[in-house]
Formats: sequence, structure tokens, C-alpha cells
Amino acid sequence: MEGMAIRLTGLRKAYGRTEAVAGVDLEIADGEFFSMLGPSGSGKTTVLRMIAGFETPSGGTVELAGRDVTRLAPFERDVHTVFQDYALFPHMTVEQNVAYGLKVRGVPRAERLVRARAFLTRVGLDGLGRRRPAELSGGQRQRVALARALVGRPRVLLLDEPLGALDLKLRERMQVELKEIQREVGITFVFVTHDQEEALTMSDRIAVFHQGRIEQVGTPAEIYERPGSPFVAGFVGTSNLLSGDTARQVVGTPGTYSIRPEKIRIVRDPAAPAASGLATAAGTVAEVVYLGDSTRFLVDLDTGGRLTAVQQNLETSSADLAGFRGARVALRWHPSHAVRVPETT
Ligand code: ADP
Ligand code: MG
Repeated sequence: MEGMAIRLTGLRKAYGRTEAVAGVDLEIADGEFFSMLGPSGSGKTTVLRMIAGFETPSGGTVELAGRDVTRLAPFERDVHTVFQDYALFPHMTVEQNVAYGLKVRGVPRAERLVRARAFLTRVGLDGLGRRRPAELSGGQRQRVALARALVGRPRVLLLDEPLGALDLKLRERMQVELKEIQREVGITFVFVTHDQEEALTMSDRIAVFHQGRIEQVGTPAEIYERPGSPFVAGFVGTSNLLSGDTARQVVGTPGTYSIRPEKIRIVRDPAAPAASGLATAAGTVAEVVYLGDSTRFLVDLDTGGRLTAVQQNLETSSADLAGFRGARVALRWHPSHAVRVPETT
């Protein structure tokens, strides 16, 4: 990590009695792909708008590249925002849309066009510069918005759920492409999403938001494998928590534990001996969900509580699963995969 792109200190925003942002401290490094992940209403957009300067904080400070910009107007900050609805100018061509920001800054016409075309190529829109936004697909419009944002080479790019309007296939493709473009241009991206898979796929680091606060900051692997709170364990990935008496009996020690579904093996004969060192719990299959490439088993444990186990359909087919509902099974996992989750106080 080189320099610091963004530093938020004690950032707060209240709308009347609503505390939209309730004290956020965060540092984002130059060149990072950083995601803010959280459910709707958790304060992500408000934080983004305070970084951009569209919203004045009720408390705390925003620093960009070491400079306190808390009281500066949006145009005085070296950031650019891409919104979910793209906000393209409908009467301008694609090229004019991309070149617009350069025009405002007084870049000569010939140079504007060269730079606009270069960025249209970079986002895969070669040859579409003369069209108008209405003549493009959703995914293409998204790329225009991205080219328009990148052409001015801002130090920081803020993206608020930019892929939300796209269908699943296109969204998955854009996730990969966005990440590639970001790596290429080396600009700091702050990416807001409520989609945990999207955040895990693209980010160098993720901040998980909950009720106006950050619950955890970490790499995708840290967030997924070592959730810092029951909320994070449940929001990122499938909630598979053991606590109270169940934890005492199954894990052997009190506390709250998370076991990821893909770490749990399901054994059809509950009396079969377990390989040494494996943890085991007996239960009854409450539900079987066939997902094509894998199958999800919801198992009610004899000790109380329910665990979800996921298995790849390596040898099983849908026909083999028919008898599973109601069956007595054993669940097995390596003890190191029962991860202690700190309680939030
Ligand atoms: P997110 O982007 O995570 O969905 P927001 O930052 O948009 O969350 O909103 C956080 C909270 O602040 C919500 O409860 C929302 O209703 C409230 N809020 C956001 N903007 C305003 C506003 N302009 N006026 C009043 N309340 C707002
Ligand atoms: Mg939002």
C-alpha cells in the first residue's frame, strides 16, 4: 500500500432523528478496489455522497490524498461518481457523452475526441461512438458511463450499485471486466453493493455495513472465513451459526460458531464411524434443494439448531436425492472449520 486515497474519521450523518451514518472510521489506500457491502438502508450511499461532497457530514471529517475536504464542494474534489441510472445525456452521442467532462475543463476538441475514443476502446465499445444512448443496451450504457468517468483520470472513482440494473449474466461479465479495467488504470475504486457475491468477486477489501456502522473490514477471504460478528456471518454467505446449548454440545465449548455449508460432509449412515479427528453431529434432513451443480441439505440437529450443508453433485443425480428428506444422517467437519464468531455487544 502506497499513499492514502481516502480517510474517514468519526463520520456521521443524521436526517432528523434518523442516524443514517453513525460514526465511520475508514482508510482506503491508493489503487485499491474497495467495496462497501451491506443491506438496503445501512448507510452506504450516504457515506459515498459525503466522500463526493453531495452531502455535508453532521460530524467527522473526509480526507482525500491527505487533504481535509470536508467543507469543499464536489467540483473541488478529485473524485467522480458513477450512479446506477448512468445519468447519460440522451441528446448527445456516445462520444460526446464521454468527452463532455473534458470539454468543461477546456481540453481542445481534437484531443477530447482522441481521449474519448481511447476510453471507448478500453471499455469494449469500439465503433459505437456515433450512437445515442437510446440505441445501446443496458450493458453498453453502463460502459459509456464508465468511460466518461475514467476519461478525466480522477484519483478516486465512486460507484453506487452500478451493475444493479443489469441481468445476471451481463452483471457477472461486467464484474470481471470492471475489475480488469480498474487494475489497468490503477485508479482507486469505491464500490457500493448489497450483493455479497459481487463484493467477494471484485474487491481487494470489503467494509460490511450494518445500521450506519462498519461491522468489519477485511479481504474477501477474511470476511468469509473469519466473520467478525454474527451479522457478518449471516450476511456474507449462508448463515450457519451454532450457539448456546447446541454449541456446547456439538462444538464442546460455549460461544457462537460459524461453519460454512461447503465444509460439512453429509453421511447417509449416521452410525458409520467417523475418521479420527472429525467433529460429528446427528440429525434429520428437513429439506433437500437440488441446484443443478450442487445440492443443499437443511438438517435439524438432535441437539437443537439447524445446519445447512452443500455438496457438489459429483456422483449424485436428482434421482438419488429423492429418499433424503426425513432421513437420519450424520454431519461431519474438521474442527478447524467451526470458526468462533465474536459476539457484538
Ligand atoms: P444504503 O445506501 O445502504 O441503502 P442510505 O445511505 O441510502 O443506505 O440510507 C441510510 C438511511 O438514511 C436510511 O434509513 C435512509 O432512509 C436514510 N436517508 C438517506 N437519505 C436520506 C434523506 N435525504 N433524507 C432522510 N433520510 C435519508
Ligand atoms: Mg444505496
